[in-house]
This record gives sequence, C-alpha cells and structure tokens, in this order.
Amino acid sequence: MDRIDFRSDTVSWPTPAMRDAMAKAPVGDDVYGEDPTVNRLEAMAAEMMGKEAGLFVASGTMGNLTAILAHGRRGDGVIVGNDSHTFRSEAGGMAVLGGMVPNPLPTDIYGRMDLTAVQNAIYPDDPHYPNNRLILVENSYGAKGGYPIEPDYFQQIRAIANRHGLIVHMDGARIFNAAVSLNLDPREITQHVDSITFCLSKGLCAPMGSVLCGSAEFIAQARRARKLVGGGMRQAGILAAAGIVSLTEMVERLADDHAHAKMLAEGLVQIPGLVVQPELVKTNMFFFELAESAPVTPAEFVQRLRDEANIWLSHGYSRRLRAVTHYWIQAADVALFIKTARAILQ
Ligand SMILES: *Cc1c(COP(=O)(O)O)cnc(C)c1O
Repeated sequence: MDRIDFRSDTVSWPTPAMRDAMAKAPVGDDVYGEDPTVNRLEAMAAEMMGKEAGLFVASGTMGNLTAILAHGRRGDGVIVGNDSHTFRSEAGGMAVLGGMVPNPLPTDIYGRMDLTAVQNAIYPDDPHYPNNRLILVENSYGAKGGYPIEPDYFQQIRAIANRHGLIVHMDGARIFNAAVSLNLDPREITQHVDSITFCLSKGLCAPMGSVLCGSAEFIAQARRARKLVGGGMRQAGILAAAGIVSLTEMVERLADDHAHAKMLAEGLVQIPGLVVQPELVKTNMFFFELAESAPVTPAEFVQRLRDEANIWLSHGYSRRLRAVTHYWIQAADVALFIKTARAILQ
C-alpha cells in the first residue's frame, strides 16, 4: 500500500492470491443458487461457525440486517448493547426497515451487558410492551477497542434467552480476531448463538463481503430477506473466491496483527502526552487519547503523522484516537509510527 493506513482494517487491499482466485473463479447465477464458488464459500463458512448453512452477503451491515429481518417481525423488541455496531453504526436498520424496537443497554469496559440488566430488560407478557424476540451480541467488541469476549458470557446470555424463548444473533464481524486472540475454535463461541455474521473484508482482506450463518431453515428465510434489501448478487463467485482465500489463508495470521497492535500500544504508552492502556489490547485495534497537556491537538497530531510519515489515523470529535493493524501493516511501520509520534509530541 502506498500509505501506512491505521484507520481501519477495512482499508486492507485484497492479496495477490485473492486477485488470482477471483480471475479464475467458476461462476453461475447465485440468485438461482447456481454459483459454485458462492456455494463453496457458504459451506466452508457454515462449517467453521458450526452451523448448518451460510449466506454470502454484501456487507456486515447487510448480514446483521437480513438476520434481524429473518428472526423477527415489526413490533418485536431487541436487546442490544448501546454502543454496539448493530445499534449505533448501521443507520438504525432494525427500526427503519425492520420496524423493531431496540432496547439498548450499557456495556462494561469489555463490551458485555450486565446479565441482571438483560434479564430485567425482558418485558412482562402484557399488551403495553413490544414482543420479546431477540438479543444481539458482538464479538470482538468494536467500541471497546476490539476486546475479545470469552464464551462463558455468551453461555449465560444463551441461558437467559432459553428461559424466555428468545433468539440470540451475534455480530461477529471480527469473530476470527476474537477466536485467534482467545486461542479457541470459533465454534466454542458460536455454539451459544443462533446465528452469526462475520466479515471477510476486514482483517481477512477480501475486497468485500460477509457471511451469515445459522440453521438451514433460518438461512432460507434470510435468503428472502437478502433479496428484499437488494442483496441478490448473481455471478458473485468472483467475490466469494476472495472470501475462500480469506478463510483458508488469512485466519491464522491475524495473530501477527494482534502482535503489531500490542507492539504499537507498548511503544506509544511510553510517550508523554499519550494515554494508552496496552493491557487492554488483545486483538488488532485500540483506542488511545491525547492528553490535555499534549503540545498539539488531536487533529494536528493526525495531520502531522500524515504529512511527516504518510501514516493515516482516524479520529472523531473527542480526544480519542483509534489505531487498527492489518495485513498491510508491518513491524517497521509500527516502529515508524512510534518514532514519528515521539517527535511530534516532544
Ligand atoms: C464493520 C462492522 C460491521 C459492518 O460491516 P460492514 O461490512 O462495514 O457493513 C458490523 N459490526 C462490526 C462490529 C463491525 O466492525
């Protein structure tokens, strides 16, 4: 890559092996179920998630939306973390297109809803209330710096859901980051949820696409929901071919991204003016802050990294910044980041 881009793992380009696989992919019309490459990707994904079937979708947002549309109906209640991607960063799809009623709960520093709060968020059987239907969970948890949540939390969510006949969907955009970090088979996490979406286009480097996995019956419904939102993609095998490379070649190596993020956090924490918590860095991203005492504003810091070293970083309105590592970031890039940050802040 020409620039050193720490803004997100979504910026990662497809690998040469992906471009090669894309050029050679056998294809068919996937809306007819006839694209062999899409069918292969869906079967591989389902197997890796421990579910019966998979559905290739254009994006993580489309995966979560089709899951929600297939699981619920207008007027259904959805228990969800108040800083989760599904609630906060998907344009309100569950309410706008699904007519469902989010019931957002706070999460702890790791992205977990309090289990008593979840229990208390379940409505009594009374016509005043929305129907109880869905619990949405996320792993790794983006708003908490990609923290990987242990399976026992999801087991407890599952127990609550079972007691009340609720469905659990996981936004597992970065489930492989969580699994690699926890040194677990992803199925040890996904066994506790009814359905899961994961992204091929983030750390796994595919140009686009996500896969939604669940029971065969659920995926048949989700296939209709995908069509409803315009996600029937015809010769999508061209794209699925890259996703197959993601699943076969790009999962294990996520450990390198995690090591690079840790290395970066451990370097930045030593620079006066930066507030970093390296102990919370478990996957490929983390948030850090520029202290009030720093000689530059966050916007100036970001601009100077870009001007002086072609290092790109994203920041919002607060003093908080986010760094994300991926396949196209090497240890030398991390070292350059630390060196440049130190020079700017001295
Ligand atoms: C990126 C992301 C999504 C959505 O994926 P898109 O492909 O960008 O629509 C969903 N959930 C989480 C946690 C994400 O990080």
